[in-house]
Amino acid sequence: MRRKLVVANWKMHGDLAQNKVLFDAFRQRLDHLTSADIAVCVPYPYLFQAQQELQGSHIAWGAQNVAKHEVGAYTGEVSARMLKDFGASYVIVGHSERSTAYCESDENIAAKFVVARKSGITPVLCLGETLAERESGLCHQVIASQIDAVLKTVGAGVFAHAVVSYEPVWAIGTGLSATPGQAQQVHAFIRDRIAALDVHAAETVRILYGGSVNPLNASQLFVMPDIDGGLIGRCSLNANDFEEICRAAC
Ligand code: PGA
Repeated sequence: MRRKLVVANWKMHGDLAQNKVLFDAFRQRLDHLTSADIAVCVPYPYLFQAQQELQGSHIAWGAQNVAKHEVGAYTGEVSARMLKDFGASYVIVGHSERSTAYCESDENIAAKFVVARKSGITPVLCLGETLAERESGLCHQVIASQIDAVLKTVGAGVFAHAVVSYEPVWAIGTGLSATPGQAQQVHAFIRDRIAALDVHAAETVRILYGGSVNPLNASQLFVMPDIDGGLIGRCSLNANDFEEICRAAC
């Protein structure tokens, strides 16, 4: 039985004062929800604040990106070792908002996944098709090529210590979530793809759904057999909404 995981993705929101209010509310409302894992992925400058504010709670924290290189002359980059040094547990890799805006290739994303794992951080690997791809019947093909780029580089066994997040691009921030049935179908496809190489890893890997998850649709999504929790954008900036979503995972 896989433990559910709910990850907040604050994206480029917040400041010290607003974060403090949210961290306090999260500790107060979520710390006793111990039957699911909960994490908050914050912008880099606020990792220190997350570390301070969440210390001693069962809420983990992480980053939203990582350099693909381990160390070196890469101005502006942050390495996985630095994140680990700080106590970060998770890092999001391959979010479509990054792969679109910064032209991240599947190979770059695979490299980031590798450095995260090597440093002992759990990568949250995002996969997802655009609306045009779905409408052209290419959804499975796109997902297969995204996951295969990582499987080819790292093998399947490592997925036992990783998280995958299915995030249809058309559902992110649009208010238009995939239906539980649509999401389940893709989640099962991803799990089968990993199972073809490593059954244990496929049974262990947590596959989250992300894209307009809210308090109304969370429980219907999380009840599906291959949906192991969610990656939450907008609703993670509201303590009430995020609490309800976490409760749906418990
Ligand atoms: P959303 O974002 O919940 O605002 O749709 C999800 C994500 O981008 O991770």
